[in-house]
Amino acid sequence: MDFDLPEDLQMLQQAAREFAENELAPRAAEADKEESWVGEQVRLCAEMGFLGMAVPEQYGGSELGTLGSSLVLMELNKGCASTGTTVSVHNSLTCESIVRFGNDEQKQRYLPKLATGEMLGAYCLSEAGSGSDAGSLVCRATPDGDDWILDGTKLWISHGNQADLAVIFARSDADAGTRGITAFLVDTSSEGYKPGKKERKMGLRGSPTVELQLDNLRVPAANVLGEVNDGFKIAMALLDGGRIGIASQAIGIADACLAASVKYAGEREQFGKPLAAFGAIQEKIADMATYIEGARLLTLRAATLKDGGKPYGREASMAKLQASRGANYCAKEAVQIHGGAGYTRDFPVERYFRDARITEIYEGTTEIQTLVIARTYLR
Ligand SMILES: Cc1cc2nc3c(=O)[nH]c(=O)nc-3n(C[C@H](O)[C@H](O)[C@H](O)COP(=O)(O)OP(=O)(O)OC[C@H]3O[C@@H](n4cnc5c(N)ncnc54)[C@H](O)[C@@H]3O)c2cc1C
Repeated sequence: MDFDLPEDLQMLQQAAREFAENELAPRAAEADKEESWVGEQVRLCAEMGFLGMAVPEQYGGSELGTLGSSLVLMELNKGCASTGTTVSVHNSLTCESIVRFGNDEQKQRYLPKLATGEMLGAYCLSEAGSGSDAGSLVCRATPDGDDWILDGTKLWISHGNQADLAVIFARSDADAGTRGITAFLVDTSSEGYKPGKKERKMGLRGSPTVELQLDNLRVPAANVLGEVNDGFKIAMALLDGGRIGIASQAIGIADACLAASVKYAGEREQFGKPLAAFGAIQEKIADMATYIEGARLLTLRAATLKDGGKPYGREASMAKLQASRGANYCAKEAVQIHGGAGYTRDFPVERYFRDARITEIYEGTTEIQTLVIARTYLR
């Protein structure tokens, strides 16, 4: 078995690495401090083709596959996790929703614009009463002639106030549980699409997370994604893929923690020696690197299975579980290695620590990943 990446993927990885170092990392602290939208960074990602990673070339995308996208996301998130989140949601939850479940007309209409970044995509599943238990959502979809009317409130929508196209899940049959949910493609310029309160968050502060009011929102039947009442299956299928994106994000954050720790441990001296000379510090560096490499292998394996058309749900959950726990371990130890300096905003590890936290929460919490994995063994 050959674990080396082919040359084209190595070149892609290198290009993404240089881009993240030159364009994202220098802007990340400011976006975090000001809680300002990473719009310019997302525009630059679009120029690199990173908004079309999931879109086939025939629609103007860069069609990098899940493996290529994962490698890019690791690098982007090493530079700026807020940008990484935006790029991940846009590709793996919006573009993929249309690539996998859209009809020809929807593909023609949306994919070329999503691929270039002319349109930015959001994903609207969560509500106040339905997070982990997404199937209990209550936002209503009511048929009205050739249209549907959406009503209700979505919560936690990443860049819901910046997106041009939103995939919205709503209840089309009140009595059918998870078989009564439909997915809709919604142009956010539609009357009735109303972004509201922006959350004040611990991390990912350059990625606005907003409440979304669906107020008598009229959607043409042509914008139903997949079949009516099939939305829950679509939502779950997309999250399986999205988890590879979040695993990649967690690895990027963990990589940044390791790099900062190695640098600091080499520079800072105590007891007449660099910190790197102490066994306790070496052990932390070794554990961080081992966590990261294990998570990377799991993530690239899940991506390879998905690209090969094989089942990958369990592997995607394992990748997310391992990578997100690893990122939180690495962030904790990175702050520890920096001592008091790590507790200040003068060093990026303080931000990495806050950003890492989300990777265990969204697109399925750590606890939900364990349920998904255990179920495949205990059935
Ligand atoms: C920054 C951010 C961005 C987000 N972006 C989006 C987005 O773009 N689109 C979107 O739709 N959603 C988004 N979300 C929502 C996110 O997916 C949910 O927060 C997540 O699914 C958890 O749901 P919850 O917050 O309601 O927590 P709950 O479901 O209330 O969970 C609370 C705790 O209970 C645990 N728990 C729940 N059920 C079980 C169980 N059966 N067994 C064991 N433990 C359990 C959980 O693991 C967790 O620890 C975002 C959230 C955040 C914070």
